[in-house]
Amino acid sequence: MSMQNRHAALFEPLQIGPVTAKNRFYQVPHCCGMGHRHPRAHAALREVKAEGGWAVVSTEETEIHPSGDLTPYNEQRLWDDRDLPALALMTEAVHRHGALAAIELAHNGHHVPNLYSRIAPLAASAISADGDYPRQARAATLADIAALRRWHRAAVRRAISAGFDIVYVYAGHHMSLAHQFLSTRFNQRSDAYGGSLENRLRLTRELLEDALDEAAGRCAVAFRFAVDDLLGADGMQAGEEGRAVVELLAELPDLWDVNLAGWENDSQTARFAPDEGYQEPYTAFVKRVTGKPVVGVGRYTSPDRMAALLRRGALDMIGAARPSIADPFLPEKIRSGRSDEIRECIGCNICVASDNLCAPIRCTQNPTIGEEWRRGWHPERIAAARSPARNPTRLLVVGAGPAGLECALQLGRRGYSVALAEAGRELGGRALRESRLKGLASWRRVLDYREQALLRTANVQIHRGNALTAEDLLGLDFEHAFIATGARWRRDGLGHSSRRPLPGLDRLAVLTPDDIMDGALPQLADGGAPLLIFDDEQGYIGGVLADHLADSLPRRGDGSAPIAFVSPANCVSPWTHFTLEQSRVQARLIEQGIALHLGQRLVAAGDGEVELACVYSDRRQRLACGALLLVTERCAASEPGGALGESLQAQLDAGANSALRSVQLIGDALAPGLIADAVHAGHLAARDFDRDPAQVEAELLRRELVSLAD
Ligand code: ADP
Ligand code: SF4
Repeated sequence: MSMQNRHAALFEPLQIGPVTAKNRFYQVPHCCGMGHRHPRAHAALREVKAEGGWAVVSTEETEIHPSGDLTPYNEQRLWDDRDLPALALMTEAVHRHGALAAIELAHNGHHVPNLYSRIAPLAASAISADGDYPRQARAATLADIAALRRWHRAAVRRAISAGFDIVYVYAGHHMSLAHQFLSTRFNQRSDAYGGSLENRLRLTRELLEDALDEAAGRCAVAFRFAVDDLLGADGMQAGEEGRAVVELLAELPDLWDVNLAGWENDSQTARFAPDEGYQEPYTAFVKRVTGKPVVGVGRYTSPDRMAALLRRGALDMIGAARPSIADPFLPEKIRSGRSDEIRECIGCNICVASDNLCAPIRCTQNPTIGEEWRRGWHPERIAAARSPARNPTRLLVVGAGPAGLECALQLGRRGYSVALAEAGRELGGRALRESRLKGLASWRRVLDYREQALLRTANVQIHRGNALTAEDLLGLDFEHAFIATGARWRRDGLGHSSRRPLPGLDRLAVLTPDDIMDGALPQLADGGAPLLIFDDEQGYIGGVLADHLADSLPRRGDGSAPIAFVSPANCVSPWTHFTLEQSRVQARLIEQGIALHLGQRLVAAGDGEVELACVYSDRRQRLACGALLLVTERCAASEPGGALGESLQAQLDAGANSALRSVQLIGDALAPGLIADAVHAGHLAARDFDRDPAQVEAELLRRELVSLAD
C-alpha cells in the first residue's frame, strides 16, 4: 500500500536551522517517568518513536543544574559530563532510524523545592515554591542570572557532545525560570529583568543568543513558548503579550514550538477538550509572525487534519506527545497508506498520571509503551506462535472488553487459532459502556481500534451473543481459555471505608454505576430528597457520573442538580489530580449545583435518609436521600461470568473430561483496575502464553541498577 496523495505534504523534509527533518512529524518533549533513573528504558522508548517515523524525537525536561532539581520526578539530567553516556544512549538510538534528537534544557526555578540538592530555589522574585513542600524561593541576583546563563551554555555544549541535533530554550508550563521571568505574576523585579515586556523577556533572549552562539551551526536551537496561560488578563494572552513575544523574537530561534500553559492546559483531556486541535485558536497566529518553522500540538490523530494544517499554513510540523505514545508508528502508518490502522490516543492522561506518580509511562491504548527495554515489547512486532502453523493451538478468549479484545488480537497476530466469545451483541465491555457517559466518548477508540484490527485478522473468530458457562467451556474443543469477563460494581457498600456491608441498604433505592451505564435513572420525588452519590472509590467514575446525571435529572427550582456528592476524600475525584483534571472536575460539579459533602463516609442507610460520619472526628449527621448511587468497589464474583474462572478451574482440578488444559483469568476478572491495566493484562497474557515460566520470572527482575563505580 502507498501513501495517499493528500498526505504527501506531511512527508516533505524541512530545514530547521542547520539540520533537516526528514518529514513533518515532531515528537515534542514529553515526560515518561523514566528520565535519568532508567536510561536504557528511556533510550528504547525514544528509539521506537524514531523507528515509527517521527522526524524529531525529544527528551523530557532536562535539569541543567542541581539548583533546579526535579526530585522525586524521573526527568532527564545534564548536570555534568557524567550524564552524557546515558543521554548518548538515546541520541544513538534515535539516529539509527534517521531521526533528529532534541533535548529540552530546563531550569525549573520556583517550580521545584530542590528536595535532593536542598539548595534554596531560585525565582524571578521571592515567591512560594510550587508543590506541597512549604518552602519559598529567593529572588535571583544578577550573579545568579549570570550563573544560570553559564549553566545553560554548558548544557548546550554537553548536549551537542551527547549527539543532540536540536537544543531547547524552554519557556513553558511555568516550569522554567525563563517562563517565570516572563510572567508578571511571578516577576516583580525593578531591574533590567523586570517591568516592561522587553525586560521580562531579557533572560529568554540571552539564553537563546547564548545557545545559538554555543551551537555555532552544530545544532538547531528551538524555543518552546506557551503563548497563553488561559488566565485571562492575569496571565499571558495569545492576543496580547503572547503575540508581542513572538514579534520580538520572531527570527531568533531556529524553530518555534508553541503551546499553552500550565501543563493542565497543554495536555487537556478529551473529557474537557473533546476535539483535536484545541490549541489552534491560540497558536495559529505564530506562523503569520515568524518565517521560522513552527510546531504545535493538540492531540492530532487524523492525517487529513494534519495535512490540512500544513496546507492552511497553520503549522510547519505536527507536534505530538500523546498521539506518539498511543501509536509510535503513526507517521509510518500514514506513509505506507495504513492510516486506518492508527491507534488513536483517547485523551485520558493515564500517561501523564504515571509521570506524576514517578512511575515509568503507561498508556490505555498502547500497552507496549514503557516496556520496550524491560520486557522487550514492540508496538508492531510480536513473536510467532510456538505451535506448528499447520496445527495451531486452539485458544478461547471469553469476554470482549479491553482485556479480552487485546488478548485475542495479539494471540491472533501470533498466529494462533482464536475464538473470542462475547455475551453481548457489541464488543468493548466497560470501554463501550463508559464511553456512553458524559465526556468519555473517546473511550470508544479502545474498542474501535481493536475491533477493526480483529476484522483484518483471519485466524480470530468473533462470536457475539455468546454467554458461556463453565459447562459450555468444558464441552468445547479448546486447549486453553483466557477468562476476561470483567467485573461489576458492588451493591453492598463494601469498599475503602467499610470492610463490612453497609446496614439498611434494603430501605433505600440503591443503584450502581453499572445500572446507570445500563440506562437506569434514579426515580426522585419532585422537590424531594436528592440522589446521593457515595464515591468511596475516589477514581474518575464517581465525578463523571455526577456530571452525567446532573444533565439527565430534572433540575430543582433554583437550577441546581438534585444530587449530593459524598466522599471520604477532601476533594472530588482525587485520582484526577494525576490526570491533571481535578480542578476542572470539581469546578464542573460546583457549576452543576451539586452539594459536596467531603471528608465524610457513609455508615448506614435508612428510610429516605443516610447517616454520614466525618472521617476525622467521627461526628455523625443525617442527610435526606431519595436514592443512593454506590461507587465503592468492583467485584468479579458478582458478575455471572466472574465465577467462571474459579468454577472451570475447580472442575478441571477434579479431572473433568475436556480438551481444555488450562484456564487463565485476566484483566478486571482477575483484579479490577484502570482500562489501561486491563489492556496491559490482555497483552501480557498473549505474549507470555507459551513462554518458559523461568524466563517470564527473570524478566520481572529486569531493572537498571545503580553503578557503584563512582
Ligand atoms: P476488562 O476490563 O477486564 O476487559 P470488561 O468488564 O470491560 O473487562 O469486559 C468484560 C466483557 O466480558 C463484557 O463485554 C461482558 O459482556 C463479557 N462477559 C462477561 N461474562 C461473560 C461470559 N460468561 N461469556 C461471554 N462473555 C462474557
Ligand atoms: Fe493518549 Fe491516554 Fe495513551 Fe496518554 S494514556 S497517550 S492520553 S490514550
